[in-house]
Amino acid sequence: MDKTRRSLLGTTAAMGAGAVAGCVMPTVAQDRDRVLFAQVGTFIPVVGTDQKFQVRRIYCVGRNYAAHSREMGSDPTREPPFFFQKPTDAIQLVPQGATIDHPYPPVTKNYHYEIELVAALGKRGKNIPVEQALDYVWGYALGLDMTRRDLQRAMGDEKKPWEVGKSFDNSAVISHLHPATRTGHFTKGAIWLKVNGQTKQSSTLDKMIWSVAEQVSNLSRYYELFPGDIIYSGTPENVGPVVRGDVMEGHADGLYDIRVKVV
Ligand code: MN
Repeated sequence: MDKTRRSLLGTTAAMGAGAVAGCVMPTVAQDRDRVLFAQVGTFIPVVGTDQKFQVRRIYCVGRNYAAHSREMGSDPTREPPFFFQKPTDAIQLVPQGATIDHPYPPVTKNYHYEIELVAALGKRGKNIPVEQALDYVWGYALGLDMTRRDLQRAMGDEKKPWEVGKSFDNSAVISHLHPATRTGHFTKGAIWLKVNGQTKQSSTLDKMIWSVAEQVSNLSRYYELFPGDIIYSGTPENVGPVVRGDVMEGHADGLYDIRVKVV
């Protein structure tokens, strides 16, 4: 069996196991030879195990800390939560103890960090009440919602979708996943980001306008949520630029720190 065929069979088996309603995926054995350019999917390893969490969708919450909302030119008291997505294959993993090379993306001249808590879902649901929402959260990770700020702003100014500012290769930097059974749920604790050893962002999770439970509940009004969905929960104030050579260090109490070098 050649390499192409082997990976195709592996992928088809994974699709069968993970298939969900609403996705057009071949799930029956006789279809496997008809899949062209089959993809292997995106996985986040689970800390301390050999398990991997398969990512279905990446959702992000916008302007979820009051001070960040103000620095982006909004009034945080009037805004309900809003969401956007990144493509699933935008994930770039940062293993514990490693410093990964993160490629500076094309076109931008103002490339920004946004340190964020990420919630990973393990249960299917829609119209989820806030009181039950944390039952749907399987685990947590620390992430960077990397942003081509100049493109995001330019598109926004022209009332065009800000897709190119937010959704691009490697824009969803993330640690490995920590099961909530071990960490508990995150409602407080410090979150910070340093660049070249200097603190740039520093806040606490209790300053989120919409808690993780409220994010899950609200998002589930718009989309049916599935195991494998992850939610970047928004960044605190003092977002700013990085250039090639900069080293970003991210932290949230209870998760391991991430280190990322822009190259
Ligand atoms: Mn963000």
